[in-house]
Amino acid sequence: MYGGKYERHESLSNKKIHQAIAAITEAFMLEHSKTRSKLRIDYLGGEPMLAFDRVQEIDALLHADQDKTIESFLVTNGTVFNDEQIDWLILNDFNIQVSLDLDQQNHDKNRNFKKNNLGSYNCICQNLEMFFERDSLYFDRRISAKAVLDPADTLVQQQEVELHPLFSRLRDLNKFNMVVLEPVFDIDQDHTYFSALEHLREILSCKNNVSDISELVSDLTIRQRAFFFSQIDTFFSSPAGNKLINGEEIILPFAKKCGMNTPAIDINGDISICIKAKQFIIGNTHKNEISQDKINQFINMRYSKMQQCTNCISQKMCPLCYQALDVIDDKIKMNKFCEFTRKSHRKIFELGIEICENNPILWNKLESSYNEQVDLYLTQKS
Ligand code: SF4
Repeated sequence: MYGGKYERHESLSNKKIHQAIAAITEAFMLEHSKTRSKLRIDYLGGEPMLAFDRVQEIDALLHADQDKTIESFLVTNGTVFNDEQIDWLILNDFNIQVSLDLDQQNHDKNRNFKKNNLGSYNCICQNLEMFFERDSLYFDRRISAKAVLDPADTLVQQQEVELHPLFSRLRDLNKFNMVVLEPVFDIDQDHTYFSALEHLREILSCKNNVSDISELVSDLTIRQRAFFFSQIDTFFSSPAGNKLINGEEIILPFAKKCGMNTPAIDINGDISICIKAKQFIIGNTHKNEISQDKINQFINMRYSKMQQCTNCISQKMCPLCYQALDVIDDKIKMNKFCEFTRKSHRKIFELGIEICENNPILWNKLESSYNEQVDLYLTQKS
């Protein structure tokens, strides 16, 4: 759908993991998780349903280890299911996440079939209905959905969205998330992102004397609310969170635990620290090797003090992660990430301060709440 937008990510190869590598990968995962009773595996693509036989093979191999609980997650565009596949996924208790961008009009604008250019909304809904009809309990437990929000859609005052009943059901179960389309992290290319910030500022700076955040965002559309909570809410929530988690320590920009818990295995067996940071390779399942030195090097990179961060406006809430970095001759290159991040935080802080000035009750409440949390943290710590 959004292929080609991000120059830093390689385009999809449309290749399927080789059977032998799948088997080696499975053996490797079992061998290197001996101390764990639970193993989680995510099947990502491209589209993993196009390699469903491989999914089944890997799953069978993993389940051969009776001592381990295997949790399986399939991230799919939701268009490719047949009856047998649905039965198998239910029987094997797979978690499934489909992508659905709210309503049909919005979804079909960006997600369509290459062969005929038709939108995929109806196809996904029909497939989800089949899961629900087969086993509604499974549906409630194991299916979730994700909508990708284009900041451009926050600029128009659209009517409230009418969700398909099954997606309303998922929303009520708290299993329908909205995420904002990731910026390119380049101010020359991310005009729409900054226009969305500016537009929200125009709306929110008219609000006076509200007493809480829900009242502040009450007039926003569903897309504007999602944009607010994913971007602007950092102003209201990060300082307290940082104090709580880090005490008085100097905060380094890397997101905590970034990349270290979810290694990704490519079709050639390369293991990288994250699916979005394939330049950080820590081993290869085919060669049955994983390098502790490399892992240490990347961990140290996270914790080493970066000169340019010391006085940076964004330091306490910087979303730095491996995907924003290039490593050339063992030196980190940030590309245009910092320029983008500083500009966006400057705009977010300006808006946050304006909101606080216009709404003193809200600010007093937030301040008391932060102080309570910090006091509680300090009491528990002592
Ligand atoms: S924006 Fe760049 S300089 Fe600033 S804290 Fe993040 S990584 Fe460091």
